[in-house]
Amino acid sequence: MTTDVMTRPAVLILLGPPGAGKGTQARVLEENFGLVQLSTGDLLRAAVAAGTEAGKAAKAVMEAGGLVSDEIVINILRDRLAEPDCAKGVILDGFPRTTVQAEALDGLLAENGQKINAAISLEVDDAAMVTRISGRYTCAGCGEGYHDSFKQPAVDGKCDKCGGEKMTRRADDNAETVASRLEAYHEQTAPLIAYYDGKGALKKIDAMGDIAAISGGLAKIVTDVTS
Ligand code: ADP
Ligand code: ADP
Ligand code: ZN
Repeated sequence: MTTDVMTRPAVLILLGPPGAGKGTQARVLEENFGLVQLSTGDLLRAAVAAGTEAGKAAKAVMEAGGLVSDEIVINILRDRLAEPDCAKGVILDGFPRTTVQAEALDGLLAENGQKINAAISLEVDDAAMVTRISGRYTCAGCGEGYHDSFKQPAVDGKCDKCGGEKMTRRADDNAETVASRLEAYHEQTAPLIAYYDGKGALKKIDAMGDIAAISGGLAKIVTDVTS
C-alpha cells in the first residue's frame, strides 16, 4: 500500500436493512474515529422539511416505503460529499441502496482519486428489524436515536447527549410501510452485498447482539481497513 492510499480520507459504507442499526453505529464511529456520518435518509428528510424540489418529489415515495429515484439521491449525496468536512473521511449510512447508486459512488470517488475502504454489512433477521423500527424514536435536537425497549435515555424523555426533551418518531416507521421497505431492501439493496464482495471490499458483522458489542466489532473492522 502506498503512503498516498494510507493518507486518503476513509470511505466506509454501512449496508443493512432498515432498522439494522446503521444510524446508531454510524454515530458511534463518528465519535470514535472522527469520521462524518452521511445519511441519505436524513438528507432527504431535511429536503422534505425544507420543501425543495427534491424534497417534494421524494415525500410520497418515502411515506410509502419505496426508494427515492437514483437521480435525486445521487445528486443530494454528490453535493454533500463536496462539503469541506467530508475531507475527514465519511461513513455512508443508507447509501448506496441500488447498483446504479453504487456505480455512481465509485465514479464520484474516482474523480477525487478515492475509493471505498470497506462496505460493512450489518446482518440481522427480518423479525428483529420490525421490532427495532417500531420502537425507534429520535432526539429532535441532536438526532441521537433511541428505542422504547433497547436504548432508553437515562432520564425518561430527556436526551443523554444534548439534554433536549423533544423526541420525534418518523412518519414512515409504521407497520404498513415496514413491509414495503423490507421488500425494497431485499430486491434492490441486498444485491450490493455481492457487488462489494466481488470487489473484495465486503465485511460482514453479526448485528443481532447488543449495541455495544456490535460497536466493538465494528471498531476492529474500521481500524483494520483504515490502517
Ligand atoms: P437503521 O439506521 O439501520 O435504520 P437505527 O440505527 O435507527 O437503524 O436502529 C433502529 C432502532 O433499533 C433504533 O431505535 C435503535 O435505537 C435500535 N437499535 C439499534 N441497534 C440495536 C441493537 N443492536 N439491538 C437493539 N436495538 C438496536
Ligand atoms: P431506514 O434505514 O430505516 O430504511 P433511512 O433513513 O435510511 O431509513 O431512509 C428512509 C427513506 O428514505 C427510505 O425508505 C427511502 O424512501 C429514502 N432513502 C434513503 N436513502 C435512500 C437511497 N440511498 N436511495 C433511495 N431512497 C433512499
Ligand atoms: Zn439530543
